[in-house]
This record gives sequence, C-alpha cells and structure tokens, in this order.
Amino acid sequence: MQKHLEQIGHSARYLLSLINDILDMSRIESGRVTIKNEEFSFEEFLEQIKIMVGGQCRDKGLHFYCNIIGKINQYYIGDDTKLKQIMMNILGNAVKFTNVGGSITLEVECTANYEGQSNFRFTMKDTGIGMDQSYLPKIFDAFSQEDATTTSSYGGSGLGLAITKNIVEMMNGTITVESEKGVGSTFTVNLPLKNSSQNLAEEELTIRPQDLKILFIDDDIVSRDHAKAILADSGVELETVETGKEALDLITLHN
Ligand code: ADP
Repeated sequence: MQKHLEQIGHSARYLLSLINDILDMSRIESGRVTIKNEEFSFEEFLEQIKIMVGGQCRDKGLHFYCNIIGKINQYYIGDDTKLKQIMMNILGNAVKFTNVGGSITLEVECTANYEGQSNFRFTMKDTGIGMDQSYLPKIFDAFSQEDATTTSSYGGSGLGLAITKNIVEMMNGTITVESEKGVGSTFTVNLPLKNSSQNLAEEELTIRPQDLKILFIDDDIVSRDHAKAILADSGVELETVETGKEALDLITLHN
C-alpha cells in the first residue's frame, strides 16, 4: 500500500513538472514570455539558490560548494525569477545525474562592468555521469535526452535545457556546455544585469579625494609646499595660507 502511494506521488510530481515544462515551452514559442527589469538583492538570490541546491545535495548524499569570485554588488536590476529558473534547471540536472558521493560546484563571477551594466559568469560543474561528445550539439533541442532510457531511469521531459537556453538568450546571454562521459559536466552561463543606483548611493558614502577641500595653515613655507606636493596628485582641492587670520578671512570670503 505504502509503495503504491509513493508511486502515485512520484507520478503526480512527474506529470506536474511535465505540464509546467510544456506550458513554459509553448509560452516561449508564442512569444509571450517577457523579461522583467526589477531591482533585486543578489545576495538573497544566491542564498535561496544555495538553500535549495544544498538541500537537494544533502538528501542525495552529494557535496555542494559555492564560490564567489571578486566583488559583487548587493543590488542589480533584472529578472531574478527567470535567473533562478535557469540556475535551478541546470543545478537540478547536476543533482539528478550525479551519483552518491559526487560533488556539485557553483561559481559566480562578475567579469565586466561597463555602461551601467555588469556581466556575470555562472559556472555549474558536476562530477556526474557526463555525456557523450556526439550528444552535446543536440542537448538544447526540445525533447532531447541522451538516450531513450533516461526518462525511465531519471524522469524528465527533455525540455528543461531548451527552455533554459531560450530564457538565457532573452536576457542577452549565452550558455555553453562541456562534458565527458563518466567524469562530469560543466555548464557556463554568461549574461548581463543592469547596475542599481542603490549601490551607487552606498558607494557615495565613502569619501573620494576629489570631493574634498583642504585648507592648510602653516607659517613655514617648506611645510606648505610639502603639503601641496603630497596632495596635488590625489585630486584634493588644496589652499594654503600662512596665518590663522588669513584662514579666517578666506573662510568668511567663501561663505
Ligand atoms: P530532462 O528533463 O531530461 O532533464 P533537459 O533538457 O534538462 O531534460 O536535459 C536533457 C538531457 O541532457 C538529459 O535528459 C540528460 O541526458 C542530459 N543532461 C543534462 N544535464 C546533464 C548533466 N548535468 N549530466 C549528465 N547529463 C545531463
């Protein structure tokens, strides 16, 4: 009885994911999918991915590593829901096609920052069953699976990566894959996100030399010249005077 109930549960979950994949694909094909441009916390986004994938790995006895390379701001503008769908499709496959004791690594790097946007590289690597080189050119085709037994042994519809590639391209990104049978697979997604002004506001709180005005008072000409020489290159606006009286006069003049 217990076994039958479990089987019914599995079938229901499989059918639901199949229906969702077919609906997603048909929305994409009819051009109804839009990419939203909303500010989101990158930190929270990554945290949610880590919790979801970490949980799946723990349940299956896999190791999960997440590396963040270089500096990443707190906020960006883009479609975090779709970005999550991209990552979870790839990482979900990584978990599905990796056997107990294997490992999954997610690497996130901001590779460039220009004209108000940042380029990101997400690298998702597993030490799973891998794929044959001959299959890789077909991997992003709808309904493609490496072999006919995949659905029966691992489930799935062969639509996940077709949907993923479409969404990545809608975000002006690219997706590539490298794999070796019996060794593992690496998926790399490169895509841009718009920079948020909320980070700029935070950065503005830090003092920039070119925003500073310094009034240097000393009756010794050598000290005054020394101060000028040191501060000249830093961009600070510097005025030097000889006496306290001169300094007060200058301040009154400027106000
Ligand atoms: P599915 O629903 O079958 O997972 P996908 O489009 O997500 O469909 O993947 C297509 C096929 O690509 C899978 O059935 C599997 O054969 C292969 N594949 C995808 N990711 C991996 C991976 N990390 N390791 C090994 N094979 C993979």
